[in-house]
Amino acid sequence: MKHKNIIKQMTLEEKASLMSGHNFWNTKAIERLGIPSIMLTDGPHGLRKQGGKADHLGLNKSLPATCYPTAATLANSWDRTLVNNVGQDIGKEARSEKVSVLLGPGLNIKRNPLCGRNFEYFSEDPFLTGELASEMVKGIQSNGISACPKHYAVNSQEHMRMTIDEIVDERSLREIYLSGFEKVVKKSNPHTMMSSYNKVNGEYANENQHLANDILYSEWGFDGVVVTDWGGNNDRIAGLKAHNQLEMPSTNGITDKEIVDAIHEGELDESILDDAVDQLLSLIEKVRLDDKESVQVDYVEHHNKAIDAARQSMVLLKNEDNILPLKSGTKVAVIGDFAQKPRYQGAGSSLINPYNLSNPLKSLEDSFLNIVGYAQGFKRMGGKSSNLLKEATSLAESAETVILFIGLDESKEAEGVDREDLKLPQNQLDLVESVIQVNKNVIVVLVGGGALELPFADHVQGILHTYLSGQGGGEAVVDLLIGKHNPSGKLSETFPIQYSDVPSSDYYPGDQATSEHKEGLFIGYRYFETANLPVHFPFGYGLSYTTFEYNNIRIDGLTVSFDLTNTGEMAGAEIAQLYIEKVDSKIFRAKRELKGFDKVYLDPGETKRITIELTKRDFSYYNTVINDWEIETGNYKIQIGSSIQEIHLEEIINMDGVVSALYLKNEFPNYASASVKAIPDEEFERILGRKLPPKNWDLDKELEMNDTINQAQYKNWLGKTLYNFIILFHVFFKKVGKPLTANNVYFVINMPFRQIDRFSGGRVSKKTVELFLSWINR
Ligand code: BGC
Repeated sequence: MKHKNIIKQMTLEEKASLMSGHNFWNTKAIERLGIPSIMLTDGPHGLRKQGGKADHLGLNKSLPATCYPTAATLANSWDRTLVNNVGQDIGKEARSEKVSVLLGPGLNIKRNPLCGRNFEYFSEDPFLTGELASEMVKGIQSNGISACPKHYAVNSQEHMRMTIDEIVDERSLREIYLSGFEKVVKKSNPHTMMSSYNKVNGEYANENQHLANDILYSEWGFDGVVVTDWGGNNDRIAGLKAHNQLEMPSTNGITDKEIVDAIHEGELDESILDDAVDQLLSLIEKVRLDDKESVQVDYVEHHNKAIDAARQSMVLLKNEDNILPLKSGTKVAVIGDFAQKPRYQGAGSSLINPYNLSNPLKSLEDSFLNIVGYAQGFKRMGGKSSNLLKEATSLAESAETVILFIGLDESKEAEGVDREDLKLPQNQLDLVESVIQVNKNVIVVLVGGGALELPFADHVQGILHTYLSGQGGGEAVVDLLIGKHNPSGKLSETFPIQYSDVPSSDYYPGDQATSEHKEGLFIGYRYFETANLPVHFPFGYGLSYTTFEYNNIRIDGLTVSFDLTNTGEMAGAEIAQLYIEKVDSKIFRAKRELKGFDKVYLDPGETKRITIELTKRDFSYYNTVINDWEIETGNYKIQIGSSIQEIHLEEIINMDGVVSALYLKNEFPNYASASVKAIPDEEFERILGRKLPPKNWDLDKELEMNDTINQAQYKNWLGKTLYNFIILFHVFFKKVGKPLTANNVYFVINMPFRQIDRFSGGRVSKKTVELFLSWINR
């Protein structure tokens, strides 16, 4: 134990007191022993340090900081250096504000495109996620502070996020949901990690012995501190036993006392508390800022870097007849509310108060284009307006080219609430219809943090997806539209033709007690490629104003190299992707998987030799019998492509391994063909290794502290009234045009009763909540 001497001097109460926050964002200090308090704040795509009253939903404004593109956007850059640099900048801003732990990056896997927080996550693919999140962590921590990768693990949905039990088989858990976290721990050594709210296979993630003890600490060698998600503690003692050293925010001493009592009653061994204190002290030693020099931030420089990050991350989805880049003097009509009032980030705990905010319309007006006018086009929050539609259509008629800014409004991508569909609002679709009737040169600029259904795609000339591009997005989008920079982003997620095509569409979100991951490994491209089904835009896809050629693949051992040439007339960057496909696999698996990539900048005519190193792990699947990774013996195709569907080079190599007796295709016929949209319970139970727990709530049972306010509606008049009251507020705020407040009200519905005393800062005591529950149960 590193801090034995200090720990010896502490009373039991002092030790227990360190295990939870002092307030919303700080840990406790013990002055007599020289232990300082440290500050933890969000994250993840900029610093959100609240100056005034603290809350974790972004209700109260934070200090101005640089708002970088969100993770879903940055992931489209596929640029390790860029993501590392963004991490460095955010870390620097945190350090300058004396923040020791930056709560990010978020690296949950995008199981389903409806997840309300997908905009905060990198990808549907664990390899890409792990590579980029590791760089973000390295960048943040280069400032002598800690990153806090989150939410460990399988936090795949926002609906019922604090109680839902994610039922996922061990192989999918390892290969899909944990791989990114594993890479981050092994490559970038984060000093902290945030556990998630949800349960995983029956146990709260924060108390999950398997996730924490077996995997995170024992197998991966994590030596940092696990922090609860805010208010995510359920049973403090179980949490401590599963290596959760720090509960946030403050519980006003309630759970500290529980720890002391548990030790007195022999329920908890004091050595477990000592170890936790030791680990926390090691963290404080590493990241305390009271004894470090302060740093100065150049916010102008950071704004320019935010512009660059946005430029590298936007994805050109369509460019018919090379309508883009636009030429000097082109007569352009700018249509769409998002051009004038940009949307550049999502809602919830990641909400940043941007230091500066560029504006697309202003940047267009300042460019060499001839802007003939601007029209709002639609009401942002939905609803018909024939005046706006008419005005926009007649403006479109008068111009050579139309740039149409459409997308999702602020309420659609938010913490605590999942999206209802992948559709754009009807009033915006009507606008597109109307504009394309009067003008043949329409370029759609999309705004939103993820995949969308694009029914008009065949009828417009250009589509540029800006995602949520941060405070520099307004300048970045214009640089790309006019060709000052060459688009180089590629999709880090699949765009299905329609939502119902998504493999988990029939299982998602888990509605009441559990969320069954019946689709197993087959999420995103793994499903579409294996089942051989069409998509709108495939994983890894994105256009450029130049062209590239791939030649001369060579494989030496596990080193793959090839030539990449810019064959066009403009300088630009290409993202070369390496996929591995097992030939004649006996076990069920995805047809091909991403195992390498490189983003390479090339002048016209220039050729570079690209080298990608593979490891044995890249060929492996997870064997749940021996609890280890192993290789299925045989031939593997090494494929180099510019997207998962455009493979340019291929070589076969042979790998020595085992002949597997597990996951055999003939034993799992639906998984073998990736027909995972209607997996029979029996087949899922066989890969799960147990019977499925009940999916729904038992409506006859008495409500307990871990049940949610949502369930109160099925109880007596009091429960119903409570529920209806909250719904009424939710609807009211929606109607009066306050969708964010409406979302936050709705958020309460999914809260377990145990959280009421925590979130009320102890104003509503546990006893009062218990009494209230007993009334609802009468
Ligand atoms: C979110 C975390 C966030 C924390 C603190 C929680 O609601 O899930 O991502 O870091 O609040 O704001």
